Amino acid sequence: MTTLFIADLHLDDARPEITELFERYLASPEVRQAEALYILGDLVEAWVGDDDDAALPTRIADALKAVRDAGVPVYFMPGNRDFLVGADYATRAGIERLDDITVHTLYGQPTLLMHGDLLCTDDAAYQALRRQLRNPQWQAQVLGLPLPIRRGMAAKAREESRQHTGSAREAIMDVNQTAVEDAMRQAGVHHLIHGHTHRPAVHHFDIDGQPASRTVLGDWYEQGSVLKLDADGARLEGLPLR
Ligand code: MN
Repeated sequence: MTTLFIADLHLDDARPEITELFERYLASPEVRQAEALYILGDLVEAWVGDDDDAALPTRIADALKAVRDAGVPVYFMPGNRDFLVGADYATRAGIERLDDITVHTLYGQPTLLMHGDLLCTDDAAYQALRRQLRNPQWQAQVLGLPLPIRRGMAAKAREESRQHTGSAREAIMDVNQTAVEDAMRQAGVHHLIHGHTHRPAVHHFDIDGQPASRTVLGDWYEQGSVLKLDADGARLEGLPLR
């Protein structure tokens, strides 16, 4: 049996072919026969609240629920785009929410799971913004605003991000190796899986003289990126758009 990991799909009405690929993949035998499906953040490009009545959140919930109904557990860890996904949506989609920084034992190996943005400690401005966005009072205040206002805020934030990076695709700093090793030491693990940086790879290094690995999931821009984990090890694979 195989455990599947995906992240950074950034599902959005602007890229319908990726939403279709996501739906096709979730309906495939590979997913329906998996031991579990993990989504490690940034499933969607923007999230304005569980009460969003747009078509896309419903399509995503239906696709996820069908996987759960087929008997496959679906775990969702929030990323920097979808940290406002709440308990109501989790119920609708049949997903179990995980905290960023979760340890699951996979094929006998305690493995640290993160979205990855916390590891990008060289970007001090981003880390300060993250602390504000993750403040429960700020979140409650925003979620209390009328839906059209929240939609306007999300559109404005994305426009600012586009102007800032000069493209629709955001430039993201890579992780800091010291932050990686500190997080792994603190969790007491030698294996880490995360997304966020859009730099798919398996990195091998030593922590305190012990072999360690950091597996990075890829994004879903030019193709789908999937990590397949089983007792024999980990494989990063690409899903063609067509
Ligand atoms: Mn991210």
